[in-house]
Amino acid sequence: MTDPDLLRRLDECEHAMRALEPDAAQRVALREPVLEATENFLEALPTHPAFVDLQTCPVLDPAIPENGAPIKDVVAEFQRAVALPGSHPASGHHMGYVPGGGVYLAALGDYLAAVTNKHPGVFYSGPGAVRMEHALVRWMAGLVGYPDGALGNLASGGSVATLAAVATARDAHQLKGADFARTVVYLTSQLHHCLEKALRLAGLGECVVRRIPMDADWRMLLPALEEQIAADRAAGLRPWLLVGSAGTTDTGAVDPLERLAEVAQRENLWFHVDAAYGGFFLLTGHGRAALRGIERSDSVVLDPHKGLFLPFGMGVVLVRHGEAMRSTHRYFGNYLSEAARSEEVSPADVSPELSRHFRAVRLWLALKVAGVGAFRAALEEKLLLARYAHGRLAELGFEVGREPQLSIVTYRWVPSAGLPDEPDARLAAMNACNERLVEAVRKDGRIFLSSTKLDGLVTLRLAILNFRTHRRMVDLALEVLAAKVERAGEL
Ligand SMILES: *Cc1c(COP(=O)(O)O)cnc(C)c1O
Repeated sequence: MTDPDLLRRLDECEHAMRALEPDAAQRVALREPVLEATENFLEALPTHPAFVDLQTCPVLDPAIPENGAPIKDVVAEFQRAVALPGSHPASGHHMGYVPGGGVYLAALGDYLAAVTNKHPGVFYSGPGAVRMEHALVRWMAGLVGYPDGALGNLASGGSVATLAAVATARDAHQLKGADFARTVVYLTSQLHHCLEKALRLAGLGECVVRRIPMDADWRMLLPALEEQIAADRAAGLRPWLLVGSAGTTDTGAVDPLERLAEVAQRENLWFHVDAAYGGFFLLTGHGRAALRGIERSDSVVLDPHKGLFLPFGMGVVLVRHGEAMRSTHRYFGNYLSEAARSEEVSPADVSPELSRHFRAVRLWLALKVAGVGAFRAALEEKLLLARYAHGRLAELGFEVGREPQLSIVTYRWVPSAGLPDEPDARLAAMNACNERLVEAVRKDGRIFLSSTKLDGLVTLRLAILNFRTHRRMVDLALEVLAAKVERAGEL
């Protein structure tokens, strides 16, 4: 005989959790404030500041309540305390760092994925979901030029994708702990830091890292690489990994990938390419030519949350010999007995993750509905805008870097008078002037840009990658910069 108290308590619990399962009418009422907030956000975006000082915004209430509040209030707080402060990667006025995106179709894809909550990690459980991921991976592998047999994975971002590539490269070359201290990695100082972070996380923090000198365009110098490899072999070290950039973060520089591939092949190195920023320019003619040789790499990382304008949360790793990736990541548990019978490769077999966000839908929906042509046009526009900005900055009297290889333009302001003659003091004064220029632009808020240091010189960057950045946004950036340097005395 079941205890009546237990039955009563079951009814009480079911009643008390009703907020977790709104009915159809309640769902409409719940979505309305969310849709209204996103509509307001998108309508305001073109005229909204690209950077908002945190101090001017309300602080997020960190309290987690026992009893819920009206969704209108919770969404309103999100708008004021979360959506508002800081930079706005969704804005076409954001030209700092490497810009993000936020195509609307991807948001709808996330909504579909979250409501249906298919498990995309294991074929047995989410066969359609896994096939969708495979289709996207195959499309990207085709873009890179990898043969059949390549595998890949949709990770959360470029850094995590890089970790999967490094772990695969480690195992493919059968490196063991005892080898690590004499194992050598070749890269340039312009390579993104996520590679060295991945080395450390993969247990390879002890390995020898050689920073190969670069030419005037920030591209790895081949003779220097070859000499270093020869010297390392002579010293009894074990050359292992060569990393090229298909677009560096600072300047958008592309290493001579074709020639790096030749060296890697001859020297039996694993050749990895960081294409997190630049990879999707492969959709354009200019990009295909600039990235020639990428198809000969062993692994590559691309970031759809940069180059395909998705909201943050997707980086992709591709490995030419898929089996290497699989043998590094594959595991089995008794609780997965049914799943193990499937013939298909499951994302969990090629990823550190098992259960995870069904992130494929955001990309799939965007590509299927908008078509690849729309992305191709947007990427070509970014390349052209960078050339346009480069020319215009020079006209405005800025000292510009070389013609942009992709969509990042570097420049700095050199005051015509008032600089000291002594070289160190002159450099310090010029750097201080450019730092004040960035700060003045940030305070202005209409556009967002960032700076870096190249050879000790503070250098400003226009990184043009947001799909919402068009010529009028670049013109506004130029107008703001020109106005600030006109009053250079105040900088
Ligand atoms: C952004 C970026 C990364 C890191 O990717 P995340 O997605 O931010 O983790 C690596 N390399 C380059 C060139 C990048 O621009």
